[in-house]
Amino acid sequence: MSAKPAHTEAPKAIYLKDYAPPAWWVDTVDLHVTILDGYAEVTATLACRRNEAQRQDDLVLNGDELALQKVSLDGTLLPSSRYALDAETLTIRGPLPDRFALETLVRIEPDRNTQLSGLYKSADGCFTQCEAQGFRRITFFPDRPDVMARYTCTVEADAARFPQLLSNGNLVATGQGEAGRHWAKWQDPFAKPSYLFAMVAAKLDVLEDSFVTRSGRKVRCAVYVEPGRLDQCGHAMAALKKAMKWDEERFGLELDLDTYMIVAVGDFNMGAMENKGLNIFNTKYVLARPDTATDADYQAIDRVVAHEYFHNWTGNRVTCRDWFQLSLKEGLTVYRDEQFGEDMHSRAVTRIQDVRGLRAGQFPEDAGPMAHPIRPASYAEINNFYTATVYQKGAQVIRMIETLIGRDMFRAGMDLYFARHDGHAVTCEDFVQAMQDASGVDLTQFRRWYSRAGTPRLKAAGHYDAAAKRYSLTLTQTLAPTAYEARLAEAGIASDNGPLHIPVAVGLVLPNGTDAVPTTVLSLTETTQTFHFDDIAGAPVASLLRGYSAPVQLDFQQGDDELPHLMAHDSDAFNRWEAGQRLATRALLAGIAAGGNGVDWIPPALVAACARIVADASAQRIDPAFAAEALVLPPEQVLAEEVAAQGKTIDPDAIHRARQQLRRHLATSLFAAFDTLWQALAPTGPYAPEGGQIGRRALRNACLAYLAEADEQAALPRLMKQFEQGGNMTDVGAALGILANLDLPERQTALDAFYAKWQGEALVVDKWLNVQATSRLDGTTARVRALMQHPAFDLRNPNNVYALVRAFCAANPRHFHAADGSGYALAADVVVELQANNPQVASRIARTFDRWRQFDAGRQAHARAALERIRDQPGLARDVAEVVGNALR
Ligand SMILES: [Zn+2]
Repeated sequence: MSAKPAHTEAPKAIYLKDYAPPAWWVDTVDLHVTILDGYAEVTATLACRRNEAQRQDDLVLNGDELALQKVSLDGTLLPSSRYALDAETLTIRGPLPDRFALETLVRIEPDRNTQLSGLYKSADGCFTQCEAQGFRRITFFPDRPDVMARYTCTVEADAARFPQLLSNGNLVATGQGEAGRHWAKWQDPFAKPSYLFAMVAAKLDVLEDSFVTRSGRKVRCAVYVEPGRLDQCGHAMAALKKAMKWDEERFGLELDLDTYMIVAVGDFNMGAMENKGLNIFNTKYVLARPDTATDADYQAIDRVVAHEYFHNWTGNRVTCRDWFQLSLKEGLTVYRDEQFGEDMHSRAVTRIQDVRGLRAGQFPEDAGPMAHPIRPASYAEINNFYTATVYQKGAQVIRMIETLIGRDMFRAGMDLYFARHDGHAVTCEDFVQAMQDASGVDLTQFRRWYSRAGTPRLKAAGHYDAAAKRYSLTLTQTLAPTAYEARLAEAGIASDNGPLHIPVAVGLVLPNGTDAVPTTVLSLTETTQTFHFDDIAGAPVASLLRGYSAPVQLDFQQGDDELPHLMAHDSDAFNRWEAGQRLATRALLAGIAAGGNGVDWIPPALVAACARIVADASAQRIDPAFAAEALVLPPEQVLAEEVAAQGKTIDPDAIHRARQQLRRHLATSLFAAFDTLWQALAPTGPYAPEGGQIGRRALRNACLAYLAEADEQAALPRLMKQFEQGGNMTDVGAALGILANLDLPERQTALDAFYAKWQGEALVVDKWLNVQATSRLDGTTARVRALMQHPAFDLRNPNNVYALVRAFCAANPRHFHAADGSGYALAADVVVELQANNPQVASRIARTFDRWRQFDAGRQAHARAALERIRDQPGLARDVAEVVGNALR
């Protein structure tokens, strides 16, 4: 059974302050992986070299679930007296020479590796995932990112079952063995940390193409997929080539390899992994065909393919010194994929979607028991820190640097960063220093963003002095201590609570709709500061945080006439959208306070503003994609955080009711306009996942959802027609998603037909699970439980768990937080069952309890019982123990 060693005591924290360089370097690694029936043998030869700065006699290697067969030093077999073996380490006892070759032979069991970390078996063969600490599940190694080595890897396996044998770098030799076996030897010319090692032995089809770099080198590009799926990988290949070109143009970064491979696998814990030259991807971010994938899927593929490609420089060429620096590569690379997305698709819409994701996913994290800065000072299980904070907030921190120093200086800072640190394992500090040195802008105070948890609140107050023609803006920042500071205090670590350096991009919109000044970036460095703008002709409406210039919560009282003015005239598209969200949020908070009942809390200005969006879209005055985003009300999770930020108890039923009331009110008030717009947006040509079409479909489906909200029966024929004849998954899936929320017999008919048609396409089946998990209908919790027993669902497959269980917990707040505790019980059952097999996925489900203390006493009692039931599991995995321990702390 593949379970982690039991951790009955509280998981032990590791601290950034305790970092010490490795005692031994490893210059080269020569691996031989022999895949046999039911197990694999791994021979590793490590060229070890003493780090003179860290005198230590013993060599300590990490290992996890490895069966050691033998160990030798410079060709001599070591007797057991020369080494010590425990559940997590192999220690070679000194004295040792300054340089030596250590050879180990271990057995591992990929077939029984349900954690999907290390070398594991999936349907089509064997795959690896080594970040963060999977390499130690393949062989004994000092498994830390600052040990960088050159790797050769020989893979040997049965030729019929595993025709493709891949690893990092270049293929240097192949050969046939006895009894139908074959082997391939790969050599990676670049030194890399162990977490970037990868190998594959599988039966896969391959799509090949080439890319000529700006220096004229021809690179082989290859996408490997499950046999029979070549028709679904063209978009991923195109995305890869777009990303290669973009990185050359935007950052002057060229691919350094002769071959670049992407391998898709259906069992994968994460989205994708940037292993040097051999990316391994969740199928979700590779496979797409118009009838199986939505526009959103296509766009996600663009972003994830680009993200992993961009890591080749930001992460692989320059890597992290230790795992506390994870945001060095992730924040920076998410920033880069966000920029790529903005350049490839609608800039404003991409920004809107990224910010909505940040608010729904990261803000609750920053306010909950797992709060941490983008560079945490401690962790118990590093797998728990692949978080929205490290990734999404990390990207906003990088973006703020660009805002403060300007785009050209940012590019100069990147150039300097690579000039200084290429080939090294470095820290976040090194990155900021390069930006500071290149730009000459002092970023000393800005560095606090790396060590502070929590979402700052920015309070703003404006005053216009008509006589002096002067507009004054007073900004105040506050950041309450979070659970993170409490954890640090318990460990005796002081936290810095000085003010942050916040870039606030400001515009002043005059009554005639023009900008009084160009967008101005104010540097807020004190707790409170007042900024003055002179020669302002009339009382302006301030547009703050243009482009969302800082990841803060804005507290700015603007009137019901001012927000619509920004919606209509702000030259910053993001803030046009934001003004609408603020108008809706304010109304919804009033509605939530009223229990979500009635409609008298809905201001006419809000209905009028939505009417104008629909009218502008009908007249083709605005981008349809933008209009679609503007018609989406703030998600329930975002509203819940707004309620919590006011110090109030979250009532998920009231939030749901209020949002539904508003949707229905808009739908009935604007029924005719939605209907007209829906008709006008009918498709005119064949499907393509490209800009203009994507926006039209998004807007048309938003209209259809509103029409169904107003009158189910009237919308039904359209829904069924679109479901049956939609021709592409974007439209079919949208119709199914709407039907899944309607209590009509056609709902089940459609769900059954959809499953019957698509049961052979795993990713489409995940959509079928997802629309049922996120349905607002009563009885959803019981249906999710029933679906967990359905043949389509396998608890060992992370995509299945994410599509059904995590979607239910994270994206269906009303049912997950049901007052009777049924949602919590479901989540706890899954965590308990899953934690021994796949602690990483179990831990992600456990995280959905984060905000349990913000609810009423009854819900809290149910949540506590569920959390305690998880906590009391014998041998609870460290990943889950840390999350549950923090939640109950
Ligand atoms: Zn990444």
